[in-house]
Amino acid sequence: AKDAGRNGYHFHSQEMNCKAHERMELETSLRRALEREEFFLEFQPIIRASGDCLVGAEVLVRWQHPVKGRVMPGTFIPAAENSGLILPLGEWVMRKTCEKISEWRKNGLPPVKLSVNVSGRQFEQRNFAAMVRDILEETGADGASLQLELTETSLMKDAEATARALHSLRELNLRIVVDDFGTGYSSLGYLKNYPIDHIKIDGSFVRDICDNPDDRSIVEAIIAMADKLNLNVVAEGVETREQRDLLRKLGYQEMQGAFFYRSLPEEAFVSLLRNPRFS
Ligand code: C2E
Ligand code: CA
Ligand code: CA
Ligand code: CA
Repeated sequence: AKDAGRNGYHFHSQEMNCKAHERMELETSLRRALEREEFFLEFQPIIRASGDCLVGAEVLVRWQHPVKGRVMPGTFIPAAENSGLILPLGEWVMRKTCEKISEWRKNGLPPVKLSVNVSGRQFEQRNFAAMVRDILEETGADGASLQLELTETSLMKDAEATARALHSLRELNLRIVVDDFGTGYSSLGYLKNYPIDHIKIDGSFVRDICDNPDDRSIVEAIIAMADKLNLNVVAEGVETREQRDLLRKLGYQEMQGAFFYRSLPEEAFVSLLRNPRFS
């Protein structure tokens, strides 16, 4: 605070040191976690609105810390981004995902799309598309089974470089999803210049659609524009039947959220894939 005086300032800087220290500790343990493979993947089903059938899953990374137990990505992804560790971590997630695509196909499971989160730091790497191509080749995974989720902000940095990277990725047959749509400050306008397949509307808009007319208007406006641009829309964070019914009525094709399934461990997701209801 402005009037905290000398002691206030002193206190503040101690607190900063403490924060910096915590961050360093987190980075050290993240680095170790990568070496020891303490990470694992969970799968949150994505459902097609008509008939509630399964179309795929979003891949979500978790960290099994030897002492703290399970750590959720909200805590460690920002630290991984700040330290640059998101690059090896992101590559690990991509490789594991492609291994699963390939393994499940070999085991005769029905094809599904796995949707991987790609952070801005990763996407900015000049060799990002080449890295994905190499992983697809090494694992024998079909690009058509892979989706990449990019945030609006990472698509808005350098229009030319972005367009080039997206075109190289599309040559691999995979799909591009704009994640957390509506939380950035971009418009749909810029999307028409990019080879994009889906937009995923952020859960924060879905949460109150049944009670808040403003949120409902946003959700309606987004689908109207997406229709004109021939983009599919996915809604995340669908928690109630009312939300699902309203989103269906508005024309949302794909949904994801606790109303259907929370994120599942691999075995549970695989049994879901084997369920005749979805095959
Ligand atoms: P996100 O991409 O927006 O992912 C959706 C988050 O919403 C997930 O949290 C998911 O578990 C949660 N969620 C799903 N359904 C519901 C629901 O009905 N209600 C509510 N309240 N929440 C729901 P999670 O797993 O904690 O992931 C948080 C964020 O961490 C993700 O947000 C994503 O940005 C990031 N993340 C996760 N895995 C990765 C990864 O492998 N790489 C990168 N770069 N980021 C990741
Ligand atoms: Ca996502
Ligand atoms: Ca999201
Ligand atoms: Ca979100």
